Amino acid sequence: MDSNLIIYNTLSRTKEPFLPLNPPFVGLYVCGPTVYGEPHLGHARPAITFDLVFRYLQHLGYRVRYVRNITDVGHLENDEDEGEDKIAKKARLEQLEPMEVAQFYSDRYFLFMDALNVKRPSIEPRASGHIPEQIEMIRKIIDAGYAYEVNGSVYFDIINYNEKYHYGKLSGRVLDDMLSNTRELEGQEEKRNPSDFALWKKAQPEHIMRWSSPWSDGFPGWHLECSAMSTKYLGEHFDIHGGGMDLMFPHHESEIAQSRIANGSDSVKYWMHNNMITIDGQKMGKSLGNFITLEEFFTGKHDSLTQAYSPMTVRFFILQAHYRSTLDFSNEALQAAEKGLRKLLSGMETLQRIIPSDISTSPSCFNIQQIKDNCYQAMNDDFNSPMVIANLFEGVRIINSVSDKKETITPSDLELLKSMFRIFISDILGLKEESSDNQNDVVEGLMDLILVIRKEVRGKKDFATSDQIRDALQNLKITVKDTKEGPVWTID
Ligand code: ZN
Repeated sequence: MDSNLIIYNTLSRTKEPFLPLNPPFVGLYVCGPTVYGEPHLGHARPAITFDLVFRYLQHLGYRVRYVRNITDVGHLENDEDEGEDKIAKKARLEQLEPMEVAQFYSDRYFLFMDALNVKRPSIEPRASGHIPEQIEMIRKIIDAGYAYEVNGSVYFDIINYNEKYHYGKLSGRVLDDMLSNTRELEGQEEKRNPSDFALWKKAQPEHIMRWSSPWSDGFPGWHLECSAMSTKYLGEHFDIHGGGMDLMFPHHESEIAQSRIANGSDSVKYWMHNNMITIDGQKMGKSLGNFITLEEFFTGKHDSLTQAYSPMTVRFFILQAHYRSTLDFSNEALQAAEKGLRKLLSGMETLQRIIPSDISTSPSCFNIQQIKDNCYQAMNDDFNSPMVIANLFEGVRIINSVSDKKETITPSDLELLKSMFRIFISDILGLKEESSDNQNDVVEGLMDLILVIRKEVRGKKDFATSDQIRDALQNLKITVKDTKEGPVWTID
């Protein structure tokens, strides 16, 4: 566990050595999805980024408690304190219970995350299941003098907080600039200041999701759930808090303020943020017509996709960029990723068939230990997955060269190469053969074999056997047609 891991901390804006608060235990909290719509590409990047972090910390021997929340209440339409609850709105439009909407889209989320080989976190708490904890936190913040009640709603007092602490220290904002840039939103006149954010909102009569509280029948503000649930499951101080860069402000900034007041000191040691995804250079958005769901990626059913891309292709593509770089999706880039992934996985397959040389006759000329060290160095340098992949391709070059009998490899080097591939491709990057591809390969291999036999028996004018093969294939609904280029087959 004596690792040399270095993590870029968004808060200090520097790379820092990773020194957990209470080794071997590590607390990792990541903001999860608001479950009111189809999982899309924007969900895949943070999930895969922090899956990589989770897998690597576990590989290093840490005992990681990974908490990723599910937002099923309190996230209002405009991401601020006004508008309808996102889940309640969907429920109203589809004539469902809000919890039916939340359940349906959480299930969809898990389904697609499983396909992307994202490991399930240790705990996935829901906001609606932690109302008492949130009420308790509001009480502490009011008692400390940093929140006020108006007409049954409770707001966090930013001006008061900022006198002693810095609201904006994570995102690098200054309150004065924020104040002059804040629009006066309609319905916000309850707030002492437009930057104040809701801890509790009184429910309007038509609002379905509501709980009783000392202030009103209502519901918690969106930012509060993460402070309450991270404290509950990871304690007042924990190691890593992650999420997408778009959550830095106001969501994480407000989490910092709430936890600072309720817990008496800063809660998070390392803040990590993954960068955003663009599609053909543009931000992804429903209004831009480039909003692509994961299902559309996996089936290819979207106007801007020229083909389907498998979950592993999407995963590999995301891992080919460092998590702090922007990542642009295009058909060309995905096709290149598909090829790269195939090359890597078939290299791994070839590796299993390689027979090592006799040590006495051919000493090894590879420095595989160096390649393995490079992979660890890359991971230790703030989870540099593209650098790991580049080194693995160097391994593939060696595998192919040995397989083509251009070079030889000693038994110990072969073992080292196998363990390096298993550790980095399977355990850490989480890449695997996709079973459907596998089955297709088997079917294609068998059909090639059958057609060769068919050709041979026809050459010997053994038409009885040839007919037997044709009939057997027809029973399996496989049709063979003889063309000038040779036989072609189709499954009906
Ligand atoms: Zn959060």
